[in-house]
Amino acid sequence: MSPINLAIVGVGKIVRDQHLPSIDKNADYKLVATASRHGTVEGIQSFTTIEAMLEAVPEIDAVSLCMPPQYRYEAAYKALSAGKHVFLEKPPGATLSEVADLEALAAAKGVSLFASWHSRYAAAVEAAKDFLSKTEIKKVHVIWKEDVRHWHPNQDWIWQAGGLGVFDPGINALSIVTHILPRAIFLTGATLEFPENRDAPIAADLHFRDAGAMTVHGEFDWRQTGKQSWDIIAETAAGTMELAEGGSKLSVNGELTFSAPEEEYPSLYRRFAEIIKAGQSDVDLAPLRHVADAFMLGKRKFVEAFHD
Ligand code: NAP
Repeated sequence: MSPINLAIVGVGKIVRDQHLPSIDKNADYKLVATASRHGTVEGIQSFTTIEAMLEAVPEIDAVSLCMPPQYRYEAAYKALSAGKHVFLEKPPGATLSEVADLEALAAAKGVSLFASWHSRYAAAVEAAKDFLSKTEIKKVHVIWKEDVRHWHPNQDWIWQAGGLGVFDPGINALSIVTHILPRAIFLTGATLEFPENRDAPIAADLHFRDAGAMTVHGEFDWRQTGKQSWDIIAETAAGTMELAEGGSKLSVNGELTFSAPEEEYPSLYRRFAEIIKAGQSDVDLAPLRHVADAFMLGKRKFVEAFHD
């Protein structure tokens, strides 16, 4: 089968760090064009708008949309309307309703829409899901604390409405939690801390439960200096399970039981090719729904202004 002719829109940090190397290694894809106001990829024809690209390169089969979430819907609408398969970076959009609209459009056009959640493909996530499926879970503690100045320097969009603030990394934790827990959870209370000069939170404290007695406590914080934490700890009838370092290492009762090399973005591109071939879409909005719930139910606290 001939490769999928792929285009990328929004050439920035994540495209250079992850998308380009993953596409390069996957024979299912041929990168044929980019659209970005400033960014380009050496040796690939580039355009400054998606409209110009779609018109000039009709052989494009699929488009990866890697700009900030607030600007993704318009591009996705144009690509799907032109009959292209669409890969959405996470979070898939700025609102739940706009993504639902895109899902309906993809179905009407007979093309695939992929709402990607890269952390779900971290090395030890499936092993954690398997462990939890065979035991009783009492409580879960999610600690997602990182230094925003290190990971997101000068990214203004992330502090604007729709940029999600600390939920930009926190939604990765929620994408794992919603995948590995055997039953659905829902928010019962939250506190969101907003810097007084920003429209998105710098920290969030979240409490969830399931229909039974299981509780989940999430602590997301962007003010963490020193050791960074991306850990999920579950107290279970079979002992304490720790899914550490963003889903890459699994320990039970302090003993490492699974770790493997990082393959998140190569796995995302394998999954995208798979759903294109199968004529399906893959859109799970659960992580974004929990973030929306936190904005609905959360108490707001204003804290010290944040300056990069
Ligand atoms: P970024 O570098 O700040 O943005 C990506 C590109 O989008 C920019 O280089 C810019 O390219 C374009 N862009 C920026 N503002 C725009 C606007 N107003 N309208 C249209 N295009 C705009 O961000 P990133 O870190 O790559 O993140 C992009 C997406 O990937 C986000 O949803 C993020 O959550 C997700 N992601 C990021 C990481 C990470 O580690 N950085 C990891 C996983 C997922 P031009 O100026 O050339 O148009």
